[in-house]
Amino acid sequence: MGKIGIYGGTFNPPHIGHIRAALEAVEILGLTELLVIPDRIAPHKELPVGSASPEERVQMVRLALRHRPDVTVSDMELRREGKSYTYETVEALARQYPDDELILLMGTDMFLSFHTWMHPERILAKASLGVFCRGEKGEVQAIAQRQAELEAQGHRVYPVKNTVVDISSTDLRRLLVFRCADPFLPEGVGAYIREHRLYGTGDDYRGLPMEALEQVVIRLLKPSRVRHVLGCRDTAGALAKRWGADVTDALRAGLLHDVTKALDGQLQLTLCGEYGTILSDFDRRYPKTLHALTGALVAERIFGENEAVAEAIRYHTTGKADMTLLGKIIYVADYMEPNRDFPGVERLRELAFTDLDAALKLGLEMTLEHLKNQGSEVSPQTKQALQWLG
Ligand code: FE
Ligand code: FE
Repeated sequence: MGKIGIYGGTFNPPHIGHIRAALEAVEILGLTELLVIPDRIAPHKELPVGSASPEERVQMVRLALRHRPDVTVSDMELRREGKSYTYETVEALARQYPDDELILLMGTDMFLSFHTWMHPERILAKASLGVFCRGEKGEVQAIAQRQAELEAQGHRVYPVKNTVVDISSTDLRRLLVFRCADPFLPEGVGAYIREHRLYGTGDDYRGLPMEALEQVVIRLLKPSRVRHVLGCRDTAGALAKRWGADVTDALRAGLLHDVTKALDGQLQLTLCGEYGTILSDFDRRYPKTLHALTGALVAERIFGENEAVAEAIRYHTTGKADMTLLGKIIYVADYMEPNRDFPGVERLRELAFTDLDAALKLGLEMTLEHLKNQGSEVSPQTKQALQWLG
């Protein structure tokens, strides 16, 4: 009797986290065979722009696992018409492998909500469950409790403690547009994606007209940040008119200022590494503020923006000494765009149109105050900016 693992997922696209988890499950559970089964994506579900076709997803997973004779990539889900449920897949596999133990692999969240799936009892009648976990305390306890309940009913649950790679397919699609995804792609998959121009990798983003730029930027942001960014763009445009700066530059810088913000600290460091940027000690300790630096790099290298726009984005969180007019405008617009709401924002809005330097100074001082109250370090550039303003 063999042990057969079943590993489903969308794999849009597959990343090294998927592949590592799959291979660790083979090792830890002593699987004789692993079936990797890309899911059908329901037709009504809106797909990210440039997504791979079902066949391309299968092809990418096959490429990623081509060296493993013990892994089979199956297109059985993709060939099925209409809605498909896990219990149907498990029952079909049980007919195909009547003498083997099937182990359905899933993440912790999935396992903890397993009772809400369609016909969990029919799944458990034919398969054991394998649960990927990070080994954090609360998580281990939650799994152990559910495991005990299921085992009391005669089912088998195997926790699979695996190395977690902090990457999601969503972030990977962002990194693909920034041309920095290689560290997270299994060998061969990056080349395949580029060759087939998937996920927008074949597009030229340089010098896009405003509306097209807006569409691309919105795809790269978290939905919750879109309003802020559009507010910042409009405010930057209005301030540029008021103070005689280049309005187009202001609109573009406003639109792009947070373009990499969706990526967390670790991914910010990856971006810097891929762009060959040398970081200061402060940057390394506070990777959150790096989105200003990586945003500037992306604006210049991916979107082909001019130096003035890139520099304004570069200093939009910290400020610096000798800021340009555009730099001041973006800093202030980011602070007081219409969606911002904090004590003092009205004063800042007033000053922005009457005394830009005073608005900038007030913003820098509020940041300094806020960081001190939080017990965080203040960027040397913020201090220099304040000294420069006097
Ligand atoms: Fe920002
Ligand atoms: Fe912002």
